[in-house]
Amino acid sequence: MTYNELIELREKLANGEIVLELAKELFWKDYKAGKRAWHTKDWKERRAKIIKDKCQICGSSETLTIQHLFHPKKYYEYERDVTTKHAQSFIESNAIFDEDEFRERIIEEYEYIPVPLCPKCESRHPNKRMRKTPQYLCTECRHEFDEQIFKSADELIATFYENEEAAEVRDKCFVSKDKWRNKHNLSQAKYWFLRDKAKTKDIEEIGKETFLLFLNDNIKYLSLENTITACKKCAFNFDINHMELCPNCKEYYKGVQYPTCIQCLPEDKRKAALEKIEAGKEWQAMHKGLGID
Ligand SMILES: [Zn+2]
Ligand SMILES: [Zn+2]
Ligand SMILES: [Zn+2]
Repeated sequence: MTYNELIELREKLANGEIVLELAKELFWKDYKAGKRAWHTKDWKERRAKIIKDKCQICGSSETLTIQHLFHPKKYYEYERDVTTKHAQSFIESNAIFDEDEFRERIIEEYEYIPVPLCPKCESRHPNKRMRKTPQYLCTECRHEFDEQIFKSADELIATFYENEEAAEVRDKCFVSKDKWRNKHNLSQAKYWFLRDKAKTKDIEEIGKETFLLFLNDNIKYLSLENTITACKKCAFNFDINHMELCPNCKEYYKGVQYPTCIQCLPEDKRKAALEKIEAGKEWQAMHKGLGID
């Protein structure tokens, strides 16, 4: 899709002139076919208009390229952020928390690995002794015993309902049954439970918001607004994401950690810097050697 077609797609989706499924289909169909915007005539024309006649870092005019200072995120990153936002407002709205549903979900999705306790004072993790009997010693109440006790998942969940902050429910003793094997305590499990509910409830809005953000950033990228012209060497050597316009000349770019661009350095340092670029040395190494960082 061309730049203008993408803008049109965004407008139509935002106004509700087309549905999300169709918008996505139109976008990904071209994307998968490899018809990337930067292969189009339209993009080449806009690039030709924007590219400068010399490198905005070193001043060279050899093999100039467009360097983007802004890159869109991956689709799933927008989706994750939008979902988090929806989950937060769902939680803040004091969403109905169905205790039975939560309990069922815990049992279904987690393996419970109980923490061993002292049978007398219920302190966690009694000391196991190698040679002495009884085998266990509670370091809190000094009770000696052979059998540790364990709370059931149901008991823990019941405690959690009474007081979510209770000390005995803070252990991360619920291990997710999926491939991630995440260790959660009950309040983390509650977050993921409510997050999923928000996700199901707001599925339409989340989908649309995500795709609009994704389109916005792709349009911003294709606009070539946040770009600089760099020669091949500079483009290769410099971490262009950390570059900004030189405050002195307002013409060339510099690394954010340096006071000025190469052009604005005193004559001797400037010469040395340009020679090092010529030799293909790294920006960092160059500045270290010059002692200006
Ligand atoms: Zn250059
Ligand atoms: Zn004890
Ligand atoms: Zn400068």
